[in-house]
Order: sequence, then C-alpha cells, then structure tokens
Amino acid sequence: MTQTALMPIPGPIDPVPVARAITPRADGRVDLIGLTKPQIAALFAQAGLDAKQAKLRAKQVFHWLYHRGVAEFAAMTDIAKAMRPWLAERFVIGRPETIEAQLSSDGTRKWLLRTADGHDFEMVFIPDADRGTLCVSSQVGCTLNCTFCHTGTMRLVRNLTPGEIVGQVMLARDALGEWPKGAMDVADDPDVAEYTADGRLLTNIVMMGMGEPLYNFDNVRDALKLVMDCEGLGLSRRRITLSTSGVVPMMARAGEEIGVNLAVSLHATNKAVRDELVPLNKKYGIDELLAACAAYPGASNSRRITFEYVMLADKNDSDEDAHELVRLLKRHKLPAKVNLIPFNPWPGAAYECSSPERIRRFSAIVFDAGISAPVRTPRGRDIDAACGQLKTSAEKKSRAELDRLAAEQQAAPG
Ligand code: SAH
Ligand code: SF4
Repeated sequence: MTQTALMPIPGPIDPVPVARAITPRADGRVDLIGLTKPQIAALFAQAGLDAKQAKLRAKQVFHWLYHRGVAEFAAMTDIAKAMRPWLAERFVIGRPETIEAQLSSDGTRKWLLRTADGHDFEMVFIPDADRGTLCVSSQVGCTLNCTFCHTGTMRLVRNLTPGEIVGQVMLARDALGEWPKGAMDVADDPDVAEYTADGRLLTNIVMMGMGEPLYNFDNVRDALKLVMDCEGLGLSRRRITLSTSGVVPMMARAGEEIGVNLAVSLHATNKAVRDELVPLNKKYGIDELLAACAAYPGASNSRRITFEYVMLADKNDSDEDAHELVRLLKRHKLPAKVNLIPFNPWPGAAYECSSPERIRRFSAIVFDAGISAPVRTPRGRDIDAACGQLKTSAEKKSRAELDRLAAEQQAAPG
C-alpha cells in the first residue's frame, strides 16, 4: 500500500480544503473510471491511436464502462478482439475495493470501501417501498467538525476523486445486479430516468455520506455529470440531492453547474446554537445562508429546498424553535420542506435525541404553518449506517498520533 502525505488541517471555521495529489498506480496503468469521453479519447490518442480511432473507441468504451457497467475490456464485444488486450495493458476499470459489506435488519446495506492508496470510507443503500436511495461519500472524513456528527470527529481527510465518487454508484449497481442488458437503450430526455422507481432498484442518490460535497466541488460535479449523462449512468438530476452544511460561496455554482436538488443542514434557528452545532456558521451565518438558498438556481415550488434539522433534546427542539424556523423560512420566501432527523447516537456524543413526543409536536407546528416537515425514520442504526454515524474504524488514531508517525517517517534515514 502506498503511503500518502497527511493533508494539512485548516481551522474549524474556515476549513479551506487542500486537494491532495492522488498516488499513481504502481503498475503505471491509468484508471478510466471518473473520466469523460473526451478525456478517454485524449488518453487513447496519447497511447498511439489516430484522432478518429481514438474518438470512436472512446465512445464505445464510455458506453461499456458507464452504461453497461462492464469491469473488463474482454467483455467489450464490439471492439476488435486484438484491440482488447491493447487496452488492458494500458488501462484499468477501477472500482473502490470492498472491505466489508453489512446488511441491517431493516434492509439497509453499508459498505466499507477502500481507495487504491489505502483510505477507508463508507457508502449506504437504503431500500424503500417506492425507491432505493444510495448515500454517497464525497470525502474521507470531514474538516467541518459539526459537534453532533460522528464523521466530523474523523481527522484524516482527503477528497475523493471523480472516479471514487462515481465508482460508488457503479459498485452499488454491481452489488444490486442492475446494469441494463440491452444496447443503447437510454431515454432521450435527460429528465426521464431509464430507471424507474420500483422499490428494488437504485433510483435516487443523496450526497449525504462522509464529507462536505461543496468542499470537493470539482470532483463531485464531474462525478455527478457522469451519473446524469444519458449515455452514462443515466440517472435524472431530479433524483439526486446534494446536502451541504452551508458553504455559501459555492451554492450558486452548485445550482448552475450541477443542477441537482439542494438540501441544507440548518439544524438551528439562532446564531448561538448554530455556531455550536455547525461551526461553519461562524463564517456563513443563517441569514446569509438562507439568502443563498433563496437565490439557488432551479429552486421552485415543484423543486423545493430541503432543510435538514437534527432533533437534539433541549438544544434545538422547543416550540419556540419550531415557530422561529417557520418565520425564517417565510421571511426568505423559500420554497422549502423540512426534514426532521432524529439524532443518531454514537459513542461519546454529547447530545441526546429528542423524545418522539417532542419531535411530533415540532413537526406539527411546522406542518400547521403550511411547510411539509416529515420525520425521517432512522435506517440501519444496528450497523451504524444511519445519518452521521459513518466513521471508519481505521481512522481511530488521533491526529497527533498520525502527525507524529508522519514526522518519524520523514526523519527516518533511507
Ligand atoms: N456534509 C454534508 C452532508 C453529509 S451529512 C452536510 O452536513 O449536509 C448528512 C446529514 O446527516 C446532514 O444533515 C447532517 O447534519 C446529518 N447528521 C450528521 N450527524 C448526524 C447524527 N448523529 N444524527 C442525525 N443526523 C446527523
Ligand atoms: Fe461534515 Fe456534514 Fe458531518 Fe458537518 S454534518 S461534520 S459537514 S459530514
């Protein structure tokens, strides 16, 4: 396994992400997953094909990779037999490595995955009667340290690459056995997904796994473009939701360049409490955040912004909080729905979940004001797959310990 340098950790309030170079593969081959058609064509041209051949082969390979989900060049039957070993010598079709797959008693599945350079992260699939939702990670850990989130206690972070992000969706399709069998059988209209909600398939994606997707903007955008490409994975943008803790400066670009549904982790209605729960609030406050939501391109009454609100006993769950939440959303004239998330406990957490009665009352107040406020049923709690419980055991070493190990390694002769 290749050792990668530790990423410098910025402060909790203004955690500018530091992109880290990806360790190249030891065998020198290039992983095609995460690349666009023109990028694949450019690689084929570099490897010696003439421009026309490179473009044609890239189109074929792209289809096999993202639309059919094949994991070997040998299976690409419309590519000349002699060409397939040529491809295999130079390129690979990567998937994140599966370290462990767990199944909850409620049908939720959780995968512990590993990058080629040895970092662990998680992905969760939540089947429902009318849909199947894949919860995708954008980073290993998170720099933002929200106090109620287990992932926020993970210190070791790197951004996942576009290949590692789209690779999660591909791995889920592998595991669920749902790659299409036919040829170019995609709908022309990008808003009409080929995959319909029938309860068994992966129909929806939420960027709500580990990490803050808007602190890994380019990679998340590039990966989601492949997911939405009707010649690629072909999932409608209306079935994809990106959740942010409130990275205000990136929200307009998210709307313009990705165009998926937006979810915002609000969690509090006043500065003091939100500063505590979501320290990023000290940088981008509630009013600024809600103004950015009101300006979010594409938000409308038919495409509402979801406000996530974790229910913490005696912290943010009073009747007054519920009324203030309604006032805030109305003041900013937001096409909003509220998603109440019962707090999922984890070892050492400083909070407790509000009582079911309190959550019902809070929900009723918001509903009575004309804003939908369903309570999210916790899923996969028995395998630590529920919101905010994701944290890989490999990351248990403290940051200080990791820094010391890295310094020792650098100091070591040879
Ligand atoms: N970083 C992004 C997306 C990942 S977190 C964000 O913060 O929005 C996905 C959702 O789970 C967020 O709304 C987050 O606040 C919530 N969450 C985190 N920890 C939780 C916990 N212990 N219980 C319930 N929800 C939690
Ligand atoms: Fe990061 Fe989201 Fe967890 Fe906050 S809630 S620490 S932003 S993953």
